[in-house]
Amino acid sequence: MSAWLAVLVHTPAHASLGPVLTYRHREVLPAGTLVRVPLGARETLGVIWDPSDDEASGEIDPSKVRDISEVLDTVLPLAGAWQQLVRFAARYYQRSAGEVALAALPPQLRELSSLQLQRKSLRLQKALALQPAANKTSRAKKTPSEEASTDPAQAKALSAEQIEVLAQIEAHSGPFLLFGATGSGKTEVYLQAVEQLLAREPQAQALVMVPEINLTPQLEARFVERFAPQWGPQAVVSLHSGMTPAQRLSAWLAAHQGGARIVLGTRMAVFASMPGLRLIVVDEEHDPSYKSGEGARYSARDLAVYRGRLEAAKVVLGSATPSLESWFHSRPVAEGGRYLRLHMPSRIGAVGRSLPLVRRVDMAHQARNAVVSLPLLAAIKERIARGEQCLVFLNRRGYAPVLHCSDCGWKSACGHCSAFRVFHKSDRTLRCHHCGHSERVPRTCPGCGNPDILTLGRGTEQIEELLATLLADVRRPGTQSPEQPEGELVRIGRIDADTTRLKGALQSQLAAVHAGEVDVLVGTQMIAKGHDFRRITLVAAINPDSALFSSDFRAPERLFSLLLQAAGRAGRDAAMGAQSEVWVQTFQPAHPVYAALKNYDYPSFAHSQLQEREQAGMPPFSYQALVRADARSQEAAQAFLNAARKRAGSDMAQWPGWAKVLEQVMLYPAVPMSVQRVANVERAQMLVESASRHALQSFLAAWQEVLQASRSDPACKGLIRWAIDVDPLSI
Ligand code: ADP
Ligand code: ZN
Ligand code: ZN
Repeated sequence: MSAWLAVLVHTPAHASLGPVLTYRHREVLPAGTLVRVPLGARETLGVIWDPSDDEASGEIDPSKVRDISEVLDTVLPLAGAWQQLVRFAARYYQRSAGEVALAALPPQLRELSSLQLQRKSLRLQKALALQPAANKTSRAKKTPSEEASTDPAQAKALSAEQIEVLAQIEAHSGPFLLFGATGSGKTEVYLQAVEQLLAREPQAQALVMVPEINLTPQLEARFVERFAPQWGPQAVVSLHSGMTPAQRLSAWLAAHQGGARIVLGTRMAVFASMPGLRLIVVDEEHDPSYKSGEGARYSARDLAVYRGRLEAAKVVLGSATPSLESWFHSRPVAEGGRYLRLHMPSRIGAVGRSLPLVRRVDMAHQARNAVVSLPLLAAIKERIARGEQCLVFLNRRGYAPVLHCSDCGWKSACGHCSAFRVFHKSDRTLRCHHCGHSERVPRTCPGCGNPDILTLGRGTEQIEELLATLLADVRRPGTQSPEQPEGELVRIGRIDADTTRLKGALQSQLAAVHAGEVDVLVGTQMIAKGHDFRRITLVAAINPDSALFSSDFRAPERLFSLLLQAAGRAGRDAAMGAQSEVWVQTFQPAHPVYAALKNYDYPSFAHSQLQEREQAGMPPFSYQALVRADARSQEAAQAFLNAARKRAGSDMAQWPGWAKVLEQVMLYPAVPMSVQRVANVERAQMLVESASRHALQSFLAAWQEVLQASRSDPACKGLIRWAIDVDPLSI
C-alpha cells in the first residue's frame, strides 16, 4: 500500500510545471510535513501540501510518480496558518507558493538529514532547559554601544501616555498604529506589551520586526536585558540575513518549536514559524525596507497585518512618521478606518528634552556655491565649544557624483549603465553604484588628455574633507596640554556604506561616536535612522532639496520621514541641557515639507499629501502594480510590455466576465525605468492601476498567462525576464 501525496516545491520560474507535484510514500503524511524529494536530476526540499490547493497540477501519469526520498519527521509539521500565509502571499504578490515557501525556510533545512536536524533540536531543547542565569555568558559578546545602553530597566515608571496606549492595546483587538514622536518611548511600549503577554500566557510568542539589520543588535540587547533574567537568554532569537546558515537554522527551529518566546528580525521574519504567535510589532512601519525588492516582492508590514488576523495575534505598527497608507487606514472608524490609532506626542522626560528646534537656511542668501552655510558653520563651532556632538547628513556617498572635463565635455559615465560613475577619493576609484564596476581614476581626461579633470557635486567624503578645512582653526575645549598648548583638533568621523563594508565596522564606528571620540559625524541616511545617539545636539541636512524634484509621488513623504528621523537623533539625552537643533539648508525654505517639519506637524503634512493623492487617484486611493521587463534592448523590453497590454484588450476580451474586470483596470504604456540601463541590461516598466484591489488582483492573476504568451512575439526578441511588483514603493 502506498499513498500519493501533494508536495509543494520550488519549480523554476515560468516552468511548465506547477509548484505542487505528486509523489508516492508508504503512508499518508500530514500537510506541513517537510520532505526531501527528487526533482529532475537533483533532490530538493518540499512541504506536504493540501492536494485540493488550486495550484496542484491536474492530471497525473502514474508511471511518472516518484517516491519521497526522506521525511524530515524530526521537525514538527508547519502549521496550517503558516501554510495559509504562504498561500496568501503567493497569490497576492503573483508568485508561486513554492518559491515563497522555500524562500521563507532557512537554507540549511535543505542540506541536513532528519537525524542531523534531530540532534540540533535536542541541543536547543537542552539549552532551553538550563537555568536562565547560568547561561547568560554564552551569548554573543556585547559591543560597546550595547553596553552603553544600561537602562535601569525594571525600575522604569511608565509615562501617562505609555500607560494609556498599553491599556488600549490590552482592551482592543487592533491592528494598532502607534503614532509616537521619536523618543516618546515606543520601544518601551513594545517591551511592556511583550512582557505582559509572556507573563499571562505560558506558550505565547511575540514577533518584533525592525527595518534594518543594523538596528537589530541594539534592539536585541534591550530585549535580552529585559527578558533573559526571567525567561533565559534562549528566549530571544534574531532572524535576519546577516546570520550564518547555522545560526539561522537554530533560531528558526527555536521559534518553530516554541522555545523562543520572542523573535526579533527584519522583513524575512514575518514568515517565521511561530506556533504560539500572539503579538506582532512592526517598528518604523513606514520604512521602505519592509518591502522586498526581489523574488516575491512582498511587504512584510502588510503581511504582518494579514498574519495577525489569520492567527488572532495583535499587530502593533509603530512610527513617528507613519506611511500614508497606514495613516489613512487608521482614520476614525466612522470614516472607514480599520486600524486603531494610538498617539504618544511627548518625548520622555519632557523638560529639557523638547523636540529639536528646526532652522531653515535659505541658500539663496548664502554665498554662491556655499556647501556649509556660514550660520550653520557658526552653530557647529558653538556645539563643539560646549563639548557636544553634531551630525551632518547628506544622502550621497563618495567624493563627487560625477567627474568632468570642461575642455571637451567628457563625463564619467558608466559604460554599462545609464548613470555616472562616482568619484571615490579615498581609494582613487571611479565606481558605478548601479553595476558595481570600478576602475582607477584617470590621470588625464580620457577624451582629450586634459590633466585638469573637475568634480561636479558633492558626496559625504567631500563634506568630511571640507569640514576638516573649515574647522581647522577650532580646538576642542579642555584639551590644552604641554605637548599641545593650543589644544586638539576637532575629530570628524564618517559613517556610510563605504566605511562600514567590513563585518562589525558599523558597530565599532557607532561605539566610537557613543564614546565621544567623534565631534562631528558625517554620514548618509544610514545614520539618520534609529540609532540612539546620546550626545548629539545638532543635526544638519546639507542638501535635502533634490528629493523635492523627484518624479516619484512618494518622494515628499520619504523626505519628511527621513528628516524627522534625523531630527530624532538630536537631543536624546536629558542631561544635555542646551536646546538641540535641526538645520535644513534649502533653496525652498517655504516648501510645505519643511514648513511641516518646522512644526513637527505630521498630521497636517499627511492630510495635505492625502488630499493630493486623492485628487490624483494615487494610493491609498487606488491600487497599483508594476510590471518590469529586462531585455537586451529598450525596444524589446517595451515591446514585450506593450504586446501584453494589447493582448489584455484583445485575447482576454473573449473570456467570460472579463469585460467587467478590464473596465476597472487601467494599463499605462510602457516607459523606460529612471535608470534605464544597468549592467548592459535595458529596463522598462508598465503601470497597472485600479480603484478596486479585487479587480487588480483578478486581472493580474489572469494576465500572467498573457504575459507568458507575449514572450514569443517576434518584437520581444532579447527579452531576459519580467516580474510583477504589487503595491510598488518606487515608481
Ligand atoms: P522611541 O522608541 O519612541 O524612540 P524609546 O522607547 O527608545 O523611544 O525611549 C526613548 C528613551 O527613553 C530610551 O532611552 C528609553 O529607555 C527611555 N524611556 C522610555 N520609557 C521611559 C520611561 N517610562 N521612563 C524613563 N525612561 C524611559
Ligand atoms: Zn577632455
Ligand atoms: Zn554601471
